[in-house]
Amino acid sequence: MVKLHRPSIKMAKPLGIKAKTVSDSRITGTKLQKRRFNVWTKDPHCAVCRRLVAYPSGFELDHITPLYLGGKDTEENCQILCVEYTIEGKRGCHYEKTIKDLKA
Ligand SMILES: [Zn+2]
Repeated sequence: MVKLHRPSIKMAKPLGIKAKTVSDSRITGTKLQKRRFNVWTKDPHCAVCRRLVAYPSGFELDHITPLYLGGKDTEENCQILCVEYTIEGKRGCHYEKTIKDLKA
């Protein structure tokens, strides 16, 4: 089963302490954060609804071509999709696309 929940957004630490701890030194996490920032810097809008999204918590990186369909895990294959849990009960474009990808 593919898990919908991705525990990648855990940046809301109190006081914003940047102390390096063992648990924070995951290379993959750092790479992902850099990719998120690079993609967001190029175009900080949701690829679907064109909503301006906030860094870092207003969006999720989405693979344009899903990895399980042969898409590459590269910055070029990533797009920004908004996450939104309050407006009109919508779950945001990332959630919508994830559902569609799973059904495809
Ligand atoms: Zn959107």
